[in-house]
Amino acid sequence: MLYNQVRDLKGNIRVYCRVRPFLQHSDRRSVVEHIGENGNVIIMDPSKQGKDSRKNFSFNRAFGANATQSEIYADTQPLIRSVLDGYNVCIFAYGQTGSGKTYTMSGPDIKSESTMGVNYRALDDLFHISQSRQGIISYQLSVQMIEIYNEQVRDLLVADGSDRRYPLDIRNYSQLNGLNIPDASLVAVTCTQDVLELMKVGQRNRAVGATALNDRSSRSHSVLTIHIQGKESASGAKLKGCLHLVDLAGSERVDKSEATGDRLKEAQYINRSLSALGDVISALAQKSSHVPYRNSKLTQVLQDALGGQAKTLMFVHVNPEANAFGETISTLKFAERVA
Ligand code: ADP
Ligand code: MG
Repeated sequence: MLYNQVRDLKGNIRVYCRVRPFLQHSDRRSVVEHIGENGNVIIMDPSKQGKDSRKNFSFNRAFGANATQSEIYADTQPLIRSVLDGYNVCIFAYGQTGSGKTYTMSGPDIKSESTMGVNYRALDDLFHISQSRQGIISYQLSVQMIEIYNEQVRDLLVADGSDRRYPLDIRNYSQLNGLNIPDASLVAVTCTQDVLELMKVGQRNRAVGATALNDRSSRSHSVLTIHIQGKESASGAKLKGCLHLVDLAGSERVDKSEATGDRLKEAQYINRSLSALGDVISALAQKSSHVPYRNSKLTQVLQDALGGQAKTLMFVHVNPEANAFGETISTLKFAERVA
């Protein structure tokens, strides 16, 4: 199924659901009762019986535990191609911590090619397609990688890991098509390997300050952006596009009675920015005249790649375990609101 062939009434926003497998072999029952080819997902409330226990959700596509990384990517590929035609594209991974967001975007192991995630596959395609157009259009690709933590933007590509300019301002960067990007390092790249090296730097920088008990990566949004500039050889015409690959902070709600201090503050920032993202995408889906971009740093950073001609794909992730049921339902409700 091609993205462009199935453009529905809601235009350029698509939502795919991915249910991850159980992590250990177990005979426990999944709360996911059915995953349909057509994007239909049926969830069963483990605490109820009969018809009342079932909830129905509907997405553009749904993938079960057996879906491979390459199957997931196959449906994403047309979007990647469109970046080279001058479109702005955002791909999000949404879900509670442990539901498989990083698995989808990065993959479980940076060394294993067969399990590489969307990020790597997208980059590989960008370079291959741009090379195949050699002589017709020449492309320049450059990369940024930032983290948004407690509504503050941090550059993840500073070479020595220090962030003297933290937090970065968000301002209009006319050089790059007026994109509302922060003033973060912008690194030219010529092959997939270049980007893999940068992603390692980014991941290393991201880990700074995190301890095992304080896994900051699940409480910040990470945004990997690939900027593309093309020039048509015959006419000299120029085009620009960008691809944002976003691994969102965990969507789980923190019990206000339990969390205090920094933990509570983080949770409130995450809640607010994820709701702001939901509000923007649903305003766009409803073709509302007012789109509330300014309510979070995340939506400000991504503003020019959300709405207009831009294309959005959200992967919503589901943990099939019974103890995750409550969060699974709120994840799917969030997703349905934007779908
Ligand atoms: P998140 O980023 O949402 O917190 P992770 O991507 O880190 O979640 O996934 C949590 C765990 O589940 C990891 O050990 C990961 O390897 C595993 N996992 C997630 N999705 C899958 C999948 N589709 N197939 C196999 N293992 C998965
Ligand atoms: Mg993660």
